[in-house]
This record gives sequence, structure tokens and C-alpha cells, in this order.
Amino acid sequence: MPSLGGVCALVGEGLRPLFDCEIVWRGDRIVEIEANSNGRLQDVEHIVLPSFINAHTHIGDSLAKEAYIGLGLEEAVDPHKGLKTKIISTASKNDLVKAMRSVLEQCVSLGVTHLIDFREGGLEGLSLGREASQGLDIDLLLLGRLATPPSKGRILENQGFTDFELEELHKVCEKGNGLGISGANEYSDKMLTQIREIVRGQNKLLAVHCLESHETRGRLKGVLGRDEFQRCFNMLRPDVFVHMTDATPQEISYAFNMGVVVSCPRSNAALGNGFPPLTQILNGGGGLGTDNVMVNSPDMFREMEFAYKCLVGTTRKPFQRVEEVLKSATVNLRPRLGLKPIEVDAEADFMVLNVRELRPFWNLHSLVVNRAQRENIEQVVRKGRKLYEKPVCV
Ligand SMILES: [Zn+2]
Repeated sequence: MPSLGGVCALVGEGLRPLFDCEIVWRGDRIVEIEANSNGRLQDVEHIVLPSFINAHTHIGDSLAKEAYIGLGLEEAVDPHKGLKTKIISTASKNDLVKAMRSVLEQCVSLGVTHLIDFREGGLEGLSLGREASQGLDIDLLLLGRLATPPSKGRILENQGFTDFELEELHKVCEKGNGLGISGANEYSDKMLTQIREIVRGQNKLLAVHCLESHETRGRLKGVLGRDEFQRCFNMLRPDVFVHMTDATPQEISYAFNMGVVVSCPRSNAALGNGFPPLTQILNGGGGLGTDNVMVNSPDMFREMEFAYKCLVGTTRKPFQRVEEVLKSATVNLRPRLGLKPIEVDAEADFMVLNVRELRPFWNLHSLVVNRAQRENIEQVVRKGRKLYEKPVCV
């Protein structure tokens, strides 16, 4: 049976370190974890931690890397007129698939085994996403949407979807893992309710960008009477609220009563939307995502480090529980995907970091969050199979 010995494993939901530990797996399951009670922090050379779940991405805009520079949120990513939409709609399918595949390969070498992706382009967009991930052993959850978003006039008149659109949404939801809604402002009240009914009917995942900025909160309030959060919360009732940058503590707690919050702090900062309320999001057990590949590399190490420093910087207070940041990148969303943290009988999904050159260090969780990087990854294991192994230099 394959095994790892003499490692420090971060086990369970709390990522508790077990020093000088042996992990054994059979097939896709962990069958044994045994620790030497005399193990010490000072001797740690290898850390085994759950693989990353990148809980929010748009791999489709990987053809537009860095094109957002100098642009605001709407100019960059608006589904009707943003630069991203223009670049993607004029690209060849072949180039699009190649760019998405290269991002997915990068994700594997960065310790990401699961991605929750907002896939643009309707049914065709889904099949291009599937084509890009073919043969790669990565779990790519695709949340689709309509190929063409409804016009503003129809939203303001509170029209519902046409029969054609309803059929498309049903099919997109069925062929993908659910629906990923670009924002409540892009749909009428009636449409939001229809989206909810479709996803619930198929028992799939429903996610939405919500309160990404202060401006998106109030954009349609004057006309529709409710702000963006109220419309999401009352009509769409999603499982995943992405961003919540402008949310109050009360709204964060409402969102966690309904589902989960996924935060993308690097994207929020880069697009000029401020900094998310990370203390509340981490306290609630939220996830972390790298958002648009146009804006960010899909690197969860970078996202974690930024999140931690952002949290301390914006609250102007020390934050001792750095493991909460690591949990948001690794274990918090696992139950929603039917997965467990590192424990006996869980699927063998983990990565091994070689931290020998980073010694000496005083805080294990902080070492991973604030200092580890791709070059420290020795291997990535998914369902007991090695997905990635660091090339040996000769
Ligand atoms: Zn997004």
C-alpha cells in the first residue's frame, strides 16, 4: 500500500498538526494515520495538507490575462459590454480551449484538485470547458449560464425568460453542475425566481456574484425597490454568495444561514472594489477563490497570503487564528462537495510540501499561508493517484 512516513499531517476539519506521522492509503482511501507523540515542530521537513479547493474561478477569460489594467469592474467584466466579453467572443474555440487547459494544468501543479468555475457561453461554453479538462484528473465543477444575457429593458419591465431561454437554462443546468449567475442586476425579479426553480428542480448548485462593490449594491434599487443583496436573498436564494465585499456583518450572517460565502480578495482589490470583511467570512466558514484568470493567477498560495495580510491590515488588529485562512482554501467547502478533510476513511486528496529550506519557523499554519509557494510542492495526490510530482533537477 502507498504511504508517507515522517511527515507532519494537518488533519481533520481544524487542520490539527500531527508530527512525525505516517499516512497509509489503499486505492482512493486513507486507511491509517499514525503519529509519534514525541514529534516536534522544529523537525518538520514535509507537511501534508488537504489539496486546495479553488471555490471561484472564470477559466474562460484566460485569453485576456492582464487586459483589465486601467479598467474598472464594469469596463472589465460586464457580461454585455466588458472587455472580457469582447475578447472571448472574437476568439477561436481552439484558442479558448487551449488557454483553459493550460490554466487547469497550472492548477494541478499548484495543488488545486477542485475548481468551482463560472462558465460563460451557454451550452457551447460548457462543452468547451469539458474539452479543456479532458484527461486531466481535476474536478472541474462548471456552473453555466445563458449564452446571451437578457436586455436591460426586459429586466426593468420585470419580464420572465422566454420559452427558448428557459429550455437553454434547463439544459445548461443539467449538463453542468448548476448555474453561476453573474449578478442579480442582470436579471428581473421574475427571472431570479425562475433560475432558482430550475436549479432546485435538478438539485444542483446555485451561485451568484453578490455585493462585489458598493456600486453594484444600489444599481437597481431606485427602480426595483430592493438592493442587490435583498434581491439575491429573497428571490434567488443561492447556495453560494461570491464576493460580499460591501456586505454588513448582518448580511454575512444571513448569507451563511442560507448557504456559504466565497471571498476573492485579490480580485476585489485589483478591480478597485475594496477589501472584503474577511473576519466575518472566515468565522462563518467561507471559501476562497481566485476569480477571473484575466485578473489573477489561479494560485491559492498567493490568495491566502493576500487574504491574511488584508485582514490584519484592514482591521488594524493582530489575527492569531491564521489556520482559518488555510481552512478557507482547503477544508471549509469540502462537506458541500461530499468530501472530507484528511482523516481515516476519507478520499486520499492531499499535497506534500517540502519546507526544509524554510526552516526554522515558529508557526506551521502561517508558514503555509504566508510563505509556501508552488516550488515547495513535492506531490499532489487525488483519489490516491499522483496527479503531480515535482520534476527532479539533474
Ligand atoms: Zn467572478
